[in-house]
Formats: sequence, C-alpha cells, structure tokens
Amino acid sequence: MQTMPNAQPTPQQAPPIVRCWCCQTAVLDRLGVRGQLPAPGLRETCLECAQRIAAWVEAENSIPGPPTKFSAELVEKLLVAKRNGNHSNVAARWAGIDRTTLRRWMLDGEHQDEFPFRQLNLAVDSTDAGVEIDLVALVRSAARHDPELALKFLRQRHPDRWGVSRTEVTGAEGTPLFSKVVVLPPEDDAGDPNGGAG
Ligand SMILES: [Zn+2]
Repeated sequence: MQTMPNAQPTPQQAPPIVRCWCCQTAVLDRLGVRGQLPAPGLRETCLECAQRIAAWVEAENSIPGPPTKFSAELVEKLLVAKRNGNHSNVAARWAGIDRTTLRRWMLDGEHQDEFPFRQLNLAVDSTDAGVEIDLVALVRSAARHDPELALKFLRQRHPDRWGVSRTEVTGAEGTPLFSKVVVLPPEDDAGDPNGGAG
C-alpha cells in the first residue's frame, strides 16, 4: 500500500474526490466501471453498495405489488441533477420517477434508519448543501468587485442589521453611493441584543 505524501493540498488544488454516495467510501479506484469518468464532485456507487442495492431491489420485488424503481443508477442520476442545482421535483422527473416517489423515499430516509433510503436522504441533503456552499463562494468572490452585490448579500443574510430601511444609501435618482456602502459598519453589531431599534 502506498502512503500519501505529507503535503496537504489546499482546497483549491485538491483533486475532486469521487465518493460512493451510499457509504461515502472514496471510489477513485473504481473509475471506468461505467466506462466514463465521473464529473467533479459527483459521487458514484461503489461496487459493494451496487451489489447490496441490487440484492435489496430483488428482495423488494419478490413482494407482491408494483416493482420498486429504486436503483443505484437512478440515485446517481438524481444526484447529478441535484449537483447542478435543480429542484428535487425536476431531478425526480429527469431520473424517471414521480416527485411523490422521491418525496416518500426521502421521508422514509429521514424518519427511519432504513437501507437504502437513509443513505439516499443523506446523499441528497449533502449534495444540496454542497451546491449552496459553492454558490455562496461564487457570490462572495463576485462581491469583491461588486459592492452592490455585497450589500444585497448582507441584506439577505442579515436583514435585521442590513435591511433596506437601515442601509439605504442610494442617491435621489437611485445613484448608488458605493463608497459609502463598503465602509458602513454593521450598526448595533455588538452589545445590543435588541438591535438598537429603540
Ligand atoms: Zn459504497
């Protein structure tokens, strides 16, 4: 077994780690199983989980009733759509299931520690979180050169302190006074739990 070098890459330099959405194991050695490289940040299904899911599906379908549509491939497709920022309803339709089916699976995974719905629930939730983190980083980066965007971000994030009524600094004709915006301290930031509203 090879050991990893001591030097830790910075987050910006780190290569995308492909993890199994189901068990979170890194599956870098599994590239090519489907004949293609996974997209950065995408999580595939490791071989072990794929086999476990296939066995679960087989057991499910031995029970009388409509067959389950759950499969490792379907979850991967869902996660691709979620990773691209799509709403769950759209992701479900694209993956080939009804939105109510996905909602039911997600609720099962939330309230029961049951394979494979628990794993699905966690994978979808963490994918959503990853998208939001990426977008926040994007907005923060863009805000370095766009004070209006920075102010909008603050208003959304801290409406109590940066709400429109308290930080309106545009001119009579709507002319933005950017220089004032960027130097404005967050009023009442410290020591006043009531926000200084009087
Ligand atoms: Zn796995």
